[in-house]
Amino acid sequence: MMRVIVLFLPLLLLCAGTATLADAFRVTTEPQTVYPGDPFLIRITELSSAHHPVASFAGRKFMFVTCGDDCAIAVCAADLALKPGKYRIMVTAGKRKRRATITVRRHEPAVARITLPPDKVTLSPDDMQRVEREENLLKAIWIEHAEKMWDGSFLLPLQNEVSTQFGVKRVINNKTVSFHRGIDIRGKEGEGVRASNSGRVVLAEELYFGGNTLVISHGMGIFTVYMHLDSFGTNKGKDVSKGEIIAFVGSTGRSTGPHLHFGVKVQDASVNPVTFMELKL
Ligand SMILES: [Zn+2]
Repeated sequence: MMRVIVLFLPLLLLCAGTATLADAFRVTTEPQTVYPGDPFLIRITELSSAHHPVASFAGRKFMFVTCGDDCAIAVCAADLALKPGKYRIMVTAGKRKRRATITVRRHEPAVARITLPPDKVTLSPDDMQRVEREENLLKAIWIEHAEKMWDGSFLLPLQNEVSTQFGVKRVINNKTVSFHRGIDIRGKEGEGVRASNSGRVVLAEELYFGGNTLVISHGMGIFTVYMHLDSFGTNKGKDVSKGEIIAFVGSTGRSTGPHLHFGVKVQDASVNPVTFMELKL
């Protein structure tokens, strides 16, 4: 009798697996290959509306918004620091789980070598404390979740030439200092900066590096960031609409001339704004 149970056990497990597959939802990623810093969509189809799916990828969790009766999408991003390779995405809806994979390609960043007097690079203890305080302030913002507030695809806040691309490695006095976590867009002092999409202003204040900095939360962990502004056209806590003038170009903070530093954050990962604008949302 014992032998019969042992023989049948693998068969039972196999049947259970097949049953789960039969009523499963489908998961795809768009695109299937990205560079570090690129956004991508996870799309679920054939989903029962009773389930609230969640995706896990590279240590981050992503929520879904519906895109039809049995469809949901999550806006995700490959962090700039991700090593090239194949990554697993786990999607859970109720008790059901599905896997998908995304390939992160190797990308050699462009390098910008800058020489500055040492006293411009080394911060005073007071400034160091200030920078640390401001970094913590921003970290607390990136993890806030709100309902979806964006309305269709995102747009560039200033329709001028990009002077510094996303991901450029900055080497100051032969030491790697940082990666450029946004794009710099040329602009004239006082030129109007538009909200990339609808959302709520969650920060409008002067920061050490960013100067006058404005952050809009668009919900679901998506934020847009506007730095070195001359002045603000709105306040913290205000709801703004896509395309509305929210601030004016300036050269505040660590900046060498009037321009807009524009950044996009998805679940605290810095995303290439140029590829983010191309997402069909
Ligand atoms: Zn910049």
